[in-house]
Amino acid sequence: MIFDTHAHYDDEQFNEDREELLASMRECGIGTIINVGASLRGCRDSVTLAQTYPFIYAAVGVHPDHTGDLNEESFSWLKKQFYEEKVVAVGEIGLDYYWDNESHDIQKKWFIEQLNLARELNLPVIIHSREAAADTLEIMKKHAKGLRGIIHCFSYSKEMAREYTKMGFYIGVGGVVTFKNAKKLKEVVEDIPLDKIVLETDCPYLAPTPNRGKRNSSLNLPYVIEEIARIKGIREEAVIEQTEKNAKEVYCIK
Ligand SMILES: [Zn+2]
Repeated sequence: MIFDTHAHYDDEQFNEDREELLASMRECGIGTIINVGASLRGCRDSVTLAQTYPFIYAAVGVHPDHTGDLNEESFSWLKKQFYEEKVVAVGEIGLDYYWDNESHDIQKKWFIEQLNLARELNLPVIIHSREAAADTLEIMKKHAKGLRGIIHCFSYSKEMAREYTKMGFYIGVGGVVTFKNAKKLKEVVEDIPLDKIVLETDCPYLAPTPNRGKRNSSLNLPYVIEEIARIKGIREEAVIEQTEKNAKEVYCIK
Protein backbone atom coordinates (compact mmCIF):
# COMPACT_ATOMS: atom_id res chain seq x y z
CA MET A 1 0.00 0.00 0.00
CA ILE A 2 0.99 3.63 -0.43
CA PHE A 3 3.18 5.10 2.34
CA ASP A 4 3.00 8.89 2.83
CA THR A 5 6.26 9.74 4.62
CA HIS A 6 5.44 13.40 5.28
CA ALA A 7 2.03 14.94 6.05
CA HIS A 8 0.63 17.68 8.28
CA TYR A 9 -2.92 16.60 9.12
CA ASP A 10 -2.75 18.74 12.25
CA ASP A 11 -2.99 21.80 9.97
CA GLU A 12 -6.10 23.92 10.46
CA GLN A 13 -6.96 23.47 6.78
CA PHE A 14 -8.16 19.98 7.81
CA ASN A 15 -10.30 21.15 10.73
CA GLU A 16 -13.56 20.80 8.86
CA ASP A 17 -13.24 17.25 7.57
CA ARG A 18 -10.17 15.67 9.19
CA GLU A 19 -11.97 12.62 10.60
CA GLU A 20 -13.87 11.89 7.44
CA LEU A 21 -10.80 12.32 5.26
CA LEU A 22 -8.57 10.12 7.41
CA ALA A 23 -11.31 7.47 7.58
CA SER A 24 -11.20 7.21 3.78
CA MET A 25 -7.45 6.54 3.52
CA ARG A 26 -7.36 2.76 3.78
CA GLU A 27 -10.00 2.14 1.12
CA CYS A 28 -8.09 4.48 -1.21
CA GLY A 29 -4.91 2.46 -0.87
CA ILE A 30 -3.05 4.64 1.64
CA GLY A 31 -1.50 2.21 4.13
CA THR A 32 0.65 4.36 6.42
CA ILE A 33 1.10 8.08 7.12
CA ILE A 34 3.78 9.90 9.08
CA ASN A 35 2.41 13.12 10.56
CA VAL A 36 5.33 15.49 10.90
CA GLY A 37 5.63 18.17 13.55
CA ALA A 38 6.91 21.59 12.47
CA SER A 39 5.98 23.83 15.40
CA LEU A 40 5.76 22.89 19.09
CA ARG A 41 1.96 22.75 18.81
CA GLY A 42 2.30 20.66 15.65
CA CYS A 43 4.45 18.17 17.56
CA ARG A 44 1.86 17.81 20.28
CA ASP A 45 -0.92 17.37 17.70
CA SER A 46 1.14 14.85 15.70
CA VAL A 47 1.49 12.68 18.81
CA THR A 48 -2.28 12.91 19.40
CA LEU A 49 -3.04 11.90 15.80
CA ALA A 50 -0.69 8.92 16.08
CA GLN A 51 -2.45 7.83 19.24
CA THR A 52 -5.86 8.17 17.58
CA TYR A 53 -5.29 6.42 14.25
CA PRO A 54 -3.59 3.01 13.97
CA PHE A 55 -2.07 3.82 10.55
CA ILE A 56 -0.59 7.19 11.59
CA TYR A 57 2.84 7.57 13.20
CA ALA A 58 4.40 10.81 14.45
CA ALA A 59 7.62 12.69 13.87
CA VAL A 60 8.57 15.29 16.45
CA GLY A 61 10.89 18.20 15.69
CA VAL A 62 11.00 21.94 15.11
CA HIS A 63 11.12 23.40 11.59
CA PRO A 64 13.76 26.12 11.00
CA ASP A 65 10.98 28.74 10.66
CA HIS A 66 9.94 28.04 14.26
CA THR A 67 13.36 27.71 15.92
CA GLY A 68 12.73 31.09 17.60
CA ASP A 69 10.30 29.22 19.89
CA LEU A 70 13.06 26.94 21.16
CA ASN A 71 14.83 27.50 24.46
CA GLU A 72 16.02 25.23 27.24
CA GLU A 73 12.53 24.77 28.62
CA SER A 74 10.69 24.10 25.36
CA PHE A 75 13.49 21.82 24.15
CA SER A 76 13.20 19.73 27.28
CA TRP A 77 9.43 19.48 26.68
CA LEU A 78 10.17 18.41 23.10
CA LYS A 79 12.51 15.68 24.30
CA LYS A 80 9.77 14.27 26.53
CA GLN A 81 7.50 13.72 23.52
CA PHE A 82 9.76 10.87 22.41
CA TYR A 83 8.56 8.82 25.39
CA GLU A 84 5.13 8.69 23.73
CA GLU A 85 4.22 5.64 21.69
CA LYS A 86 4.48 5.69 17.88
CA VAL A 87 6.94 8.60 17.69
CA VAL A 88 9.29 7.27 15.02
CA ALA A 89 11.48 10.17 13.87
CA VAL A 90 13.01 13.57 14.63
CA GLY A 91 11.59 16.10 12.20
CA GLU A 92 11.19 18.22 10.47
CA ILE A 93 14.48 19.97 11.11
CA GLY A 94 16.94 21.87 8.94
CA LEU A 95 17.56 25.25 7.34
CA ASP A 96 15.24 27.57 5.43
CA TYR A 97 16.91 30.58 3.85
CA TYR A 98 13.93 31.22 1.57
CA TRP A 99 11.57 32.43 4.31
CA ASP A 100 14.53 33.37 6.50
CA ASN A 101 12.28 33.62 9.55
CA GLU A 102 15.13 33.26 12.04
CA SER A 103 18.80 34.19 11.85
CA HIS A 104 21.05 31.61 10.22
CA ASP A 105 22.91 31.16 13.52
CA ILE A 106 19.72 30.29 15.42
CA GLN A 107 18.60 27.92 12.64
CA LYS A 108 21.98 26.17 12.61
CA LYS A 109 22.17 25.88 16.37
CA TRP A 110 18.81 24.08 16.66
CA PHE A 111 19.39 22.01 13.55
CA ILE A 112 22.57 20.62 15.12
CA GLU A 113 20.94 20.16 18.56
CA GLN A 114 18.14 18.13 16.97
CA LEU A 115 20.56 16.04 14.89
CA ASN A 116 22.36 15.23 18.15
CA LEU A 117 19.04 14.33 19.74
CA ALA A 118 18.30 11.89 16.91
CA ARG A 119 21.65 10.24 17.47
CA GLU A 120 21.00 9.96 21.21
CA LEU A 121 17.57 8.41 20.56
CA ASN A 122 18.75 6.30 17.60
CA LEU A 123 15.93 7.68 15.45
CA PRO A 124 15.85 8.75 11.79
CA VAL A 125 15.71 12.44 10.85
CA ILE A 126 13.48 14.31 8.40
CA ILE A 127 15.46 17.14 6.84
CA HIS A 128 13.90 20.34 5.51
CA SER A 129 16.30 22.41 3.41
CA ARG A 130 15.30 25.32 1.22
CA GLU A 131 17.78 27.59 -0.56
CA ALA A 132 20.39 26.44 1.92
CA ALA A 133 22.12 23.66 -0.01
CA ALA A 134 25.73 24.37 0.95
CA ASP A 135 25.15 25.00 4.67
CA THR A 136 22.85 21.97 4.98
CA LEU A 137 25.40 19.65 3.39
CA GLU A 138 28.19 21.04 5.54
CA ILE A 139 26.22 20.49 8.76
CA MET A 140 25.06 17.05 7.64
CA LYS A 141 28.62 15.98 6.86
CA LYS A 142 29.79 17.11 10.28
CA HIS A 143 26.85 16.12 12.48
CA ALA A 144 24.78 13.49 10.68
CA LYS A 145 27.41 10.81 10.05
CA GLY A 146 25.86 7.41 10.60
CA LEU A 147 22.34 8.80 10.97
CA ARG A 148 19.58 7.68 8.64
CA GLY A 149 16.65 9.66 7.31
CA ILE A 150 14.90 11.51 4.51
CA ILE A 151 15.77 14.71 2.66
CA HIS A 152 12.21 15.92 2.40
CA CYS A 153 10.74 17.85 -0.55
CA PHE A 154 14.05 17.56 -2.35
CA SER A 155 14.68 20.67 -4.46
CA TYR A 156 18.39 20.50 -5.32
CA SER A 157 20.46 19.02 -8.15
CA LYS A 158 21.04 15.36 -8.96
CA GLU A 159 24.68 15.77 -7.86
CA MET A 160 23.42 16.86 -4.44
CA ALA A 161 20.96 13.94 -4.39
CA ARG A 162 23.88 11.58 -5.03
CA GLU A 163 25.77 13.09 -2.07
CA TYR A 164 22.87 12.33 0.24
CA THR A 165 22.11 8.86 -1.07
CA LYS A 166 25.80 8.01 -0.66
CA MET A 167 25.44 9.04 2.99
CA GLY A 168 22.53 6.59 3.26
CA PHE A 169 19.70 9.09 3.08
CA TYR A 170 16.47 8.74 1.13
CA ILE A 171 15.06 11.42 -1.18
CA GLY A 172 11.47 12.55 -0.51
CA VAL A 173 9.48 13.10 -3.71
CA GLY A 174 6.04 14.70 -3.75
CA GLY A 175 3.64 16.76 -5.84
CA VAL A 176 6.34 19.00 -7.31
CA VAL A 177 7.54 16.15 -9.56
CA THR A 178 4.29 16.46 -11.56
CA PHE A 179 4.79 20.17 -12.30
CA LYS A 180 5.74 20.91 -15.90
CA ASN A 181 8.60 23.20 -14.87
CA ALA A 182 10.11 20.75 -12.33
CA LYS A 183 12.93 19.78 -14.64
CA LYS A 184 15.52 19.41 -11.88
CA LEU A 185 13.41 17.08 -9.73
CA LYS A 186 12.44 14.94 -12.74
CA GLU A 187 16.17 14.57 -13.45
CA VAL A 188 16.82 13.54 -9.84
CA VAL A 189 14.08 10.88 -10.05
CA GLU A 190 15.53 9.59 -13.29
CA ASP A 191 19.05 9.49 -11.88
CA ILE A 192 18.76 7.94 -8.44
CA PRO A 193 17.67 4.34 -7.88
CA LEU A 194 14.10 3.62 -6.78
CA ASP A 195 15.39 2.07 -3.58
CA LYS A 196 16.46 5.57 -2.47
CA ILE A 197 13.11 7.29 -3.10
CA VAL A 198 10.18 7.72 -0.70
CA LEU A 199 6.77 9.26 -1.38
CA GLU A 200 5.46 12.28 0.48
CA THR A 201 2.71 14.88 0.23
CA ASP A 202 3.72 17.69 2.64
CA CYS A 203 -0.06 18.17 2.70
CA PRO A 204 -1.94 20.51 2.92
CA TYR A 205 0.76 22.03 0.67
CA LEU A 206 2.16 21.12 -2.76
CA ALA A 207 -0.76 19.33 -4.40
CA PRO A 208 0.28 17.64 -7.65
CA THR A 209 -1.06 18.45 -11.11
CA PRO A 210 -4.03 18.40 -11.87
CA ASN A 211 -4.90 19.64 -8.38
CA ARG A 212 -2.07 22.13 -8.10
CA GLY A 213 -2.97 25.06 -5.84
CA LYS A 214 -5.74 23.18 -4.04
CA ARG A 215 -5.49 21.62 -0.59
CA ASN A 216 -3.32 18.51 -0.83
CA SER A 217 -3.87 15.15 0.87
CA SER A 218 -2.44 11.64 0.65
CA LEU A 219 -5.27 10.80 -1.76
CA ASN A 220 -3.33 12.73 -4.43
CA LEU A 221 -0.29 10.45 -4.23
CA PRO A 222 -1.37 8.32 -7.23
CA TYR A 223 -0.49 11.32 -9.46
CA VAL A 224 3.03 11.37 -8.00
CA ILE A 225 3.34 7.60 -8.41
CA GLU A 226 2.18 7.84 -12.02
CA GLU A 227 4.85 10.44 -12.83
CA ILE A 228 7.68 8.52 -11.11
CA ALA A 229 6.64 5.36 -12.99
CA ARG A 230 6.59 7.29 -16.28
CA ILE A 231 10.05 8.82 -15.71
CA LYS A 232 11.60 5.51 -14.72
CA GLY A 233 9.68 3.45 -17.29
CA ILE A 234 8.35 0.99 -14.73
CA ARG A 235 4.95 -0.14 -13.44
CA GLU A 236 3.11 2.00 -10.86
CA GLU A 237 2.76 -1.06 -8.65
CA ALA A 238 6.56 -1.35 -8.51
CA VAL A 239 6.82 2.28 -7.37
CA ILE A 240 4.25 1.72 -4.60
CA GLU A 241 5.90 -1.49 -3.39
CA GLN A 242 9.49 -0.28 -3.35
CA THR A 243 8.77 3.13 -1.81
CA GLU A 244 6.69 1.47 0.92
CA LYS A 245 9.55 -0.91 1.64
CA ASN A 246 12.01 2.02 1.78
CA ALA A 247 9.77 4.01 4.12
CA LYS A 248 9.22 1.08 6.49
CA GLU A 249 12.95 0.54 6.61
CA VAL A 250 13.86 4.13 7.39
CA TYR A 251 11.15 4.55 10.04
CA CYS A 252 11.59 0.99 11.40
CA ILE A 253 7.90 0.15 10.99
CA LYS A 254 7.05 -3.54 10.52
ZN1 LIG B 1 6.57 19.51 6.02
